[in-house]
Formats: sequence, C-alpha cells, structure tokens
Amino acid sequence: TEAALRQSQKMEAVGHLTGGIAHDFNNMLTGIIGSLDIMKRRIAQNRFDGLDRFMDAAATSAQRAASLTARLLAFSRRQSLDPKPLDVNELVISLEELLRRTIQENISLRITPSSSGAFTVADANQLENAILNLAINARDAMPEGGQLTVETRTMDVDEAYVANRPGIEPGQYVVISVSDTGVGIPPELLDKVFDPFFTTKPLGQGTGLGLSMVYGFARQSGGQVRIHSQPGLGTTVSIFLKASPSLETHGEEQASESTPE
Ligand code: ADP
Repeated sequence: TEAALRQSQKMEAVGHLTGGIAHDFNNMLTGIIGSLDIMKRRIAQNRFDGLDRFMDAAATSAQRAASLTARLLAFSRRQSLDPKPLDVNELVISLEELLRRTIQENISLRITPSSSGAFTVADANQLENAILNLAINARDAMPEGGQLTVETRTMDVDEAYVANRPGIEPGQYVVISVSDTGVGIPPELLDKVFDPFFTTKPLGQGTGLGLSMVYGFARQSGGQVRIHSQPGLGTTVSIFLKASPSLETHGEEQASESTPE
C-alpha cells in the first residue's frame, strides 16, 4: 500500500542518515585517534615542538563530533517549551541582525511586521529557531540570490478556510511567513518535506530535521505550519500560532485576582 511504501522509504531515509552519521563520526574519531597516536610517539621521543598542531587537530575533530551529537540530541529530545506572552512583531524585528548574517550577500532581506499587534503565547527561543531554520532553507533555495521576506500578520481563520485545509482549527491566528524567490519544491515532494530526515541536500549539509522541528514546535504550541511552493518561483512557509488579544492579558488577570476589594 501507499502508506507501507512511504513507511519503508522513511526507514530507508533513517538508514541513510544513520549510516551517514556513523561514517562522519568515524572520520572524526579516526582524526582524534591519529593525532593522539602521533603525539604519544613524539612525546616518547622527547620531540615536543609542533605538538600543538596535533592537539588543535584533535580538538577540532572532537568539537565537530560534539556539535553533530548536539544537533541529534536537540532533535530527539522533545525540547521543553517555556511558553510566555510574546510580541511576535518585536521578535522578528529583533532577528534582523542574525538573519542578515545567516543569508548570503546576494540575498536581500525584508522584514514586514503586521500593522496591528501580533501577540501570542509561545516559547520565544523555539520560535526564533523555527524562523532561523526557515531562513536557512530559503537561503539554500537561492544559490543565485534573491529575496527573503519575513512577514507577520493576524488572520481570522473561519470555517470556510478550514474546510479546504484540514488540521487547523478556526480562530484568530498570528501568521509568521518566511518567503523566498528560490528553486521551489516539486509538488511530488511537498508532502515529504516535513518528514524527519527527509533532505535533498548533500550529506553533511542537510539533516532533514529543520522542517520537522518547525512542525513539532507549531503543533506543540497549538498551531500549524502551511507550505506553499511554486517550482522556479519560490516557497512560502507559514507558521500559524493562536493569537492573544494583547501582552497584558495575563498580567491584568493576575492583578485583579491578587487585589482584594
Ligand atoms: P534540510 O534543510 O536539512 O534538508 P528540512 O526539513 O528543513 O531539512 O527541509 C527538507 C527539504 O525540504 C530540503 O532538503 C529541501 O529539499 C526542501 N525545502 C525546505 N525548504 C525549502 C525551500 N524554502 N525551498 C526549496 N526547498 C525547500
């Protein structure tokens, strides 16, 4: 069946990734062991000059291995959320510097906050990570340059909208969209891109975990992710988060509770 086929493709992807990681990891360990070996022999011969070169090489390999496992752990551990009232406009504006450093010089960046307030309750760090992940994908989709747009808006999701888009509940949302003018995603890949470990990037460059982390974050926050792509024209990925009326809602409730008449 279709489902079984997709499952087996998924397992194949996991196999590829695990094999790839084991291979990378092995290379890093080989580097460390080799350096240690040389250092040991040189020390035995009282040749201390130039030892720091091998120490540096070993340290570099060890750091690369550590960052590889850190990335895997960050994915496998269901990251704990610390949801707080959040001004999404403020958050995207504060990301400008980081986004600029992430993209290439041939990509122009536009940040467009909504004209009305965009408030939600979510984990700020995870939302930042999600936006950064989407920006990295956008950058990778535009090797020849282009336009990266990060936009926020509020949206009233009604029954009519929900009817053609299962998986999202009616209500008020803050929508954060990351758009690029890149290569786009072929229609037949659209329902695969959220799968953990699905990547079209060369080994060592893509983990296939970016979009599935973004999706996990949105679902854990009671929201959704929608993706719209036109091959050759570009891609927009939108994170829907439940809107809250203002940042003050929580504070006011607490204040009235704790103020005796
Ligand atoms: P990774 O970026 O490590 O490959 P992701 O889960 O973030 O993992 O993305 C999975 C795949 O989806 C990418 O390899 C790419 O093929 C496709 N993709 C994601 N975002 C975009 C985009 N903005 N434009 C084109 N393709 C994209």
